[in-house]
Amino acid sequence: MPNGFLGKILWVDLTNETFKEEELSEQIYRQYIGGYGLATKLIYENMPSKTDALSPESVFGFFPGLLTGTVAPLTGRFMVAGKSPLTNTWGDSNCGGYFGPEIKKCGYDAILIKGMADSPRYITILEDDKQFIDASDLWGLDVVQTEDKLKAKHGSVQIASIGQAGENLSLISGIVNDKARIAGRSGFGAVMGSKKLKAIVLKGARKIEVADKDALIQHTKDYNEGINAATAGGIEGYRTLGTTMGNEILFQIGDTPAKNWGGRKEDFPPERLSKISGIEIDKYKQKPYGCFSCPVRCGAIMKVPEVDLEETHRPEYETCASFGHLLLNDDLMSIFKANDLCNRAGIDTISAGATIAFAIECFENGLLTKDDTDGLELTWGNSETIITLLNKIINRDGIGDLLADGTKIAAEKLGKGSEYAMHSMGQELGMHSPKYYKNMGTTFAFDPTPGRHTTASLDFFAMGPIIKPNGLFEGITLPRKFKRPGEDRSEAEKLFTAISQFTNSLGLCGFVYVFQKYPLLELVKSVVGWDLDIAEAIKTGQRIQTLRQAFTLREGIDIIKNKIPERTVTVDYLEDYKGYCEKMGWNPETGYPFKETLKDLNLDFVVKDLF
Ligand code: SF4
Repeated sequence: MPNGFLGKILWVDLTNETFKEEELSEQIYRQYIGGYGLATKLIYENMPSKTDALSPESVFGFFPGLLTGTVAPLTGRFMVAGKSPLTNTWGDSNCGGYFGPEIKKCGYDAILIKGMADSPRYITILEDDKQFIDASDLWGLDVVQTEDKLKAKHGSVQIASIGQAGENLSLISGIVNDKARIAGRSGFGAVMGSKKLKAIVLKGARKIEVADKDALIQHTKDYNEGINAATAGGIEGYRTLGTTMGNEILFQIGDTPAKNWGGRKEDFPPERLSKISGIEIDKYKQKPYGCFSCPVRCGAIMKVPEVDLEETHRPEYETCASFGHLLLNDDLMSIFKANDLCNRAGIDTISAGATIAFAIECFENGLLTKDDTDGLELTWGNSETIITLLNKIINRDGIGDLLADGTKIAAEKLGKGSEYAMHSMGQELGMHSPKYYKNMGTTFAFDPTPGRHTTASLDFFAMGPIIKPNGLFEGITLPRKFKRPGEDRSEAEKLFTAISQFTNSLGLCGFVYVFQKYPLLELVKSVVGWDLDIAEAIKTGQRIQTLRQAFTLREGIDIIKNKIPERTVTVDYLEDYKGYCEKMGWNPETGYPFKETLKDLNLDFVVKDLF
């Protein structure tokens, strides 16, 4: 019996209604770890290139990290991964809560889904009993109603489900667990909806064996004591306000976009900004909560009687920015409402808010009129209209049908307005400005899953202890002059990309980068038993990123030609990317990995696809 992982994945075929287990060798885990590392390997090999992401042949899945399910701090995360129907590139979406660990408790390191059901289904994996069950009575329900109904029937279970947005094949929809934790990016709600899969219900009792229990407990205790002792700075802010601690400060420093990325500070003055601050939001907090094995617990349950929300979840910074600053909306109640609606319907708040911003700017410039908008007057900061429009998007009602697949497709269908569509290859940009975090432009434009702020963006995460020698992970030091264009910066971008692929694949929360020193390799050793050094961790991360890249290239996408909207960026992000490609062993003119690089990373199977 291996330690940390189970050595087994589960294939679910919805067409034939079959379950099939597959055993994987330890070498696969050592090379691809878990999470989206394992996903790239399995999906690359099991899904032919150019498969329609919404077809029965499309494969997607749920992938807990290698350390997920153990007590190792901050490791409760999992990935949904596959081909994104929104960008037609590699797609992945990171999520927390308690669903990821339950996959491992059920005895699997991943659940992969293929095929397509004839009519709505949900699947149950309740210890050793697996079933396909008719979900006709759940179809049309939001995720909270779905979870309540399934829990009433199956007891104490973990559930991932889609709401109305996924059922309606909205390309900006996601998959929700714990009633509000959403794998929101990349459009996987539509993939699940296309397969007519309403929910996955899990209950497991499997214990995850670990190599050295005493060492694991000691490292965990030491780390958690540091977190619990923090009384100031980032950690304390996260624990109290969660990501909303950034609502004011990030706008003030020029990070948060306003008015569909075209606004200035004067457009959202301090007296308006302060109405949606983390402190204002905190007044509605009932209790904090967190993901599995997390000592920080940055989430919170809220009660907002003003908008009839007895129990809802604290909106994240991204949601406050996309429904607040981006729309010049200072009505906090409408942000609570929008957050709740998006979570229930299973729609990505970043893309939903950005698509409404697009519609408002189109209206302002006469590209949309009241005849197109079902009579709605789309103006900045009009919170009532924002909520009405959001409901229309969720239900594909009237103008909502045009907007339900994000800004790129809306502009294409409209035949105009692409200059107001703030996306990268179809995915709306995360709420962080490449004008402030200089390398965010590179990430938005060229990461194999474009438009994402969380994917290896060096400047974004280099606020934290990783900038100090051995400050975050022993053995990792960013080159000294990484903030300026040149050798050091390219090397830092490679290093950061590689290590973040590695930590993501372990199931580590991205916020680990802003807290304190983390016993990375020590925890891998105590859980799995591997004597991994930092050089192997970096090479593993390079392998994962290179395979993500290969997936997107194999789709025929000329990633290096991609551009992000001019108004979002000031630096030459292509030049930055070329330096990064050189360090990654990729051709800087095309973004294609060199053959030698593929061989060196044991990715020989990719050569035939790219050359
Ligand atoms: S810091 Fe927040 S998002 Fe990260 S694992 Fe903890 S509770 Fe989850």
